[in-house]
Amino acid sequence: MSQTKVKSLQNYVGGKWVEAESDKTEAVYNPATGEVIAHVPISSLDDVDQAVNVATEAFQTWKEVPVPKRARILFKYQQLLVDHWDELAEIITIENGKSFKEAQGEVQRGIENVEFAAGAPSLMMGEQLPSIAEGLESGVYQYPIGVIGGITPFNFPMMVPAWMFPIAIATGNTFVLKPSERTPLLANRLAELLEEAGLPKGVFNIVHGAHDVVNGLLDHKDVAAISFVGSQPVAEYVYKRGTDNLKRVQALSGAKNHSIVLRDANMDNATTQILNAAFGSAGERCMAASVVAVEESVADEFIEQLTQKTNEIKIGNGLDEGVFLGPVIRDNHKERTLNYIETGEKEGAKLVRDGRSDKDAQREGYFVGPTIFDHVTTEMKIWQDEMFAPILSIARVQDLDSAVELTNQSRFANGACIFTNDGGSVRKFRETIDAGMLGVNIGVPAPMAFFPFSGWKDSFYGDLHANGKDGLNFYTRKKVVTTRWV
Ligand code: NAD
Repeated sequence: MSQTKVKSLQNYVGGKWVEAESDKTEAVYNPATGEVIAHVPISSLDDVDQAVNVATEAFQTWKEVPVPKRARILFKYQQLLVDHWDELAEIITIENGKSFKEAQGEVQRGIENVEFAAGAPSLMMGEQLPSIAEGLESGVYQYPIGVIGGITPFNFPMMVPAWMFPIAIATGNTFVLKPSERTPLLANRLAELLEEAGLPKGVFNIVHGAHDVVNGLLDHKDVAAISFVGSQPVAEYVYKRGTDNLKRVQALSGAKNHSIVLRDANMDNATTQILNAAFGSAGERCMAASVVAVEESVADEFIEQLTQKTNEIKIGNGLDEGVFLGPVIRDNHKERTLNYIETGEKEGAKLVRDGRSDKDAQREGYFVGPTIFDHVTTEMKIWQDEMFAPILSIARVQDLDSAVELTNQSRFANGACIFTNDGGSVRKFRETIDAGMLGVNIGVPAPMAFFPFSGWKDSFYGDLHANGKDGLNFYTRKKVVTTRWV
């Protein structure tokens, strides 16, 4: 993308593209080249207020639109997303850096959420009991809750907003999205397509910016609920401030995902899956494999195969054919990643593969090659912290029990995977591991749209998770009607 194409982004409020009241902006970079591709407004509290007021007014009419009519707009939207699949994926690759193939997969995940939301007429059906006592009947009805504030991270510019707004608007709410200021372009395209699908003005709005916008949404009296996805410290802050303001909050937080490889695992599958899970999207996934606890008796074999396969990865601009590993998101994130590699060495872990020396990672842009540490222990920062980078830590364990004990010491509990062919081990893993999303012989057990995205411990704050019936219940409230016909 050349300098002549640098865009100045606007907010989207009441169906119009508007300049932010604030004149502050931030540069948006293509992480694969370091070029500025856009300027994003860093909006003010006034900008939030205007958008929430518009969404509050729109709620009064949108909630009255029959559910099948709302769903029909989502059917149209789904078709538009399918028609624009590659265009959307290209925007994701340009602003986020992940490979085009990964970006196409992300668009698919977004589309699946729209498909789930288009089932709102069935999803919102209540329940009745015609005879709760002599001549008495009861039924439960579901209603939207109002204006929803959505705050999203840089790593999934399409999938994460799509966890939120399709089901929120299908159930009759209106929405104000604050996308990541590091990847704000895709959201604007999503808004244009929503408009094309016929969504009434004011139902979906975008206010670009940073913490001021987040605080504005958290404090606004007319925002009924907050859906947040991002790093742990911010998730905790958002959950505390939002609930202090008596709002419903779901805050999906940081992660450190553990895999366990037992001696009877299919090693070819385990190494391929773990490679993809650790280094896909440059390790910038909340479900990235970050630590592998491998049984000592097969550890050398596992590491040798994994390293061999990792050496074949193509590093480069995600738009180029065959590229697997793109850049990390920013220069300062690259610095942070390199610091972690130094920390790991100082802490005494064995550096098996050093991503700093990959020739293809020396290019312009924010590249770090895939890095593997062996003999990692729980006292090390590289075991404890979410690095969100292409660094994989390996810990050697004696058996499944010690692997589970080690894994359960993590403060995070998003995903965990086991690689084995033994049913008893799978059962024990399922029953004893602390994590909300489990995988058996797969590397990224991310649930599809109709299941909840269900992190535990410091990977999630709230009660109802995103997606599935949890998502539906988060965005709706109930009336129970008890009737006597006399
Ligand atoms: P981030 O926490 O830096 O930003 C997330 C959002 O919060 C952004 O919109 C940002 O503008 C806003 N924000 C940042 N700092 C803030 C502050 N001090 N006050 C108020 N708002 C603030 O996260 P990120 O770096 O964009 O995304 C990566 C993180 O998101 C990782 O930790 C990853 O694990 C997590 N994540 C979690 C899930 C999940 O399902 N649990 C999914 C995707 C990403």
